[in-house]
Amino acid sequence: MNSLTLTLADEGATLALGQALARHITPPLIVHLHGDLGAGKTTLTRGLVQALGHQGAVKSPTYTLVEPYELSGMQVYHFDLYRLSDPEELEFMGIRDYFANNTLALVEWPSKGLGILPEADLMVEMAYLPTGRQAILSGMTERGLDVIKELAP
Ligand code: ADP
Ligand code: MG
Repeated sequence: MNSLTLTLADEGATLALGQALARHITPPLIVHLHGDLGAGKTTLTRGLVQALGHQGAVKSPTYTLVEPYELSGMQVYHFDLYRLSDPEELEFMGIRDYFANNTLALVEWPSKGLGILPEADLMVEMAYLPTGRQAILSGMTERGLDVIKELAP
């Protein structure tokens, strides 16, 4: 199975998916989070980052572009590229340094970094349903496919 389609009835279900991902992730892993504003990308990230041990709030780093966390012995970077006007800006912030061996990268609005942002291992597409949300998870590399395998019911 290369992808997994899930219905998330409420915010709690989105957080629970983040928690499930936390259990099956081993770095290095790059996760791209697609979806419209309000689709639940940050909520999913919050479930994941808090399950890895972060105690505080998790907000989209819209203006700072990236929020770093050091959790469970790994380096976690939460990107939000919504405000990026040109993928080249990623070069200026030294994007390559963020993708080291022990890193989990979670990237909202990866389309804004197209061409410079490293490719995803795991792609998550969040979308609105009449009630709740849909999440489609796709493994783009062997490492991403392993996560899908572990998550699949
Ligand atoms: P994004 O980062 O994609 O812009 P956020 O996660 O910041 O979206 O916001 C999503 C909003 O939708 C939040 O108000 C959250 O409570 C809500 N939400 C998250 N998941 C669900 C869900 N499965 N069903 C209904 N509402 C949800
Ligand atoms: Mg967000």
